[in-house]
Amino acid sequence: MTPVAYLNARIPDLEAETLGAPVTVVTSGDRILSIGGEIPGDATRIDLGGKTLMPGLIDAHFHVVAHSLDLWSNVTAPDSLAALRAAKIMEGLLDRGFTTVRDLGGADIGLVQGVEDGLIDGPDLVICGKGLSMTGGHTDLRARTDVRPDAMGWRLGNMGVLVDGVDEVRRACRKMLKEGAKFIKVMANGGVASPNDPIDSIQYSRAEILAMVEEAENANTYVSAHVYHDAAIRRCVELGVKSLEHCNLITPETAKMAAEAGCFAVPTLVAYEGLKLEGAALGLGASEQAKVDIVRDKGLESLAIMRDAGLPMAFGTDLLGELRKYGGMEFDLLAKVLTPAEILRSVTEVGALACRKQGEIGVIAEGARADFIVVEGDPFDDITLLGRPEQHLRMVVKSGRVAREAMGAA
Ligand SMILES: [Zn+2]
Repeated sequence: MTPVAYLNARIPDLEAETLGAPVTVVTSGDRILSIGGEIPGDATRIDLGGKTLMPGLIDAHFHVVAHSLDLWSNVTAPDSLAALRAAKIMEGLLDRGFTTVRDLGGADIGLVQGVEDGLIDGPDLVICGKGLSMTGGHTDLRARTDVRPDAMGWRLGNMGVLVDGVDEVRRACRKMLKEGAKFIKVMANGGVASPNDPIDSIQYSRAEILAMVEEAENANTYVSAHVYHDAAIRRCVELGVKSLEHCNLITPETAKMAAEAGCFAVPTLVAYEGLKLEGAALGLGASEQAKVDIVRDKGLESLAIMRDAGLPMAFGTDLLGELRKYGGMEFDLLAKVLTPAEILRSVTEVGALACRKQGEIGVIAEGARADFIVVEGDPFDDITLLGRPEQHLRMVVKSGRVAREAMGAA
């Protein structure tokens, strides 16, 4: 691939909390070759005219198979249909500037390879296979009167499988790691979009979670846990879980403990805003709706608690089905508490940490992957512009290729 020189690019400086002076960024193949260096004679030149050039965005909590908020309709879809739907959703994410997405349950290696082979024009996927849920846990979608076995578990459109007991947990972890999972996801606490598990229910035994942590560590990776309640978060930290999803009801003591243990968190506040706005209209059951407020009310407070404790936070949305359209609103919610620099860090550097691709993505540096976006406007003045790509996103470069350009209003 001929080198490409992006002239007059202003790169966010997260330390100085301002845009840098205009420089030239040169890419060669899928890498950033130089920043502010010589322009190779054969380079294609693109003048960005002082626009912002920043790392491609990373959503660290997403479910690309969650086509509909009616989760049963996802689960019962044939795998071929679920894959085609996921491909469309992924292409929409790249449209919005997301060049890497960490999938927290559902996606398989076929979708990862679909991107690598150019069949899906979407972000790179970092997958966990299925989320592990105990019987009656957060991905057990069966009504109380439904006594059928979990026959749908490994269907592509399903976000989780029901697995009970230490031996079965180990087998499921090993199967998923063998099939390309980059980390393990466990449902360790009650959830909103499931019928039978209150928010304060603790899920899985200590022995089962310890088995997951051991299997993940044996494969040089980590366990991520779905957790809201402080007691559930604390137990996971004690058991060696590293990625703490949601964390709406976390206390300062637990946040400090998590930071000291080397954990990171992924708040997903917009998920509850979306459910509040449209969940009922989209068929969310009455028992699930009642749970939305419990976690939504504490969301903003949790951001301040985690920030003050020094617990790194990655950007995540966790929006299911038709609620995906609200993704940009996550920036508005974060901006009520965090600074633009803190939010930029979460959607780039901390996201890269969650994907175990630090230094490779989420950063504009020589030798890093040429995954970046060009934005009209200064994110330090208004970070929420990242949530309005139709107005502000001008270009998406992924692996050195211009994947989207001349988007939005001039
Ligand atoms: Zn989720």
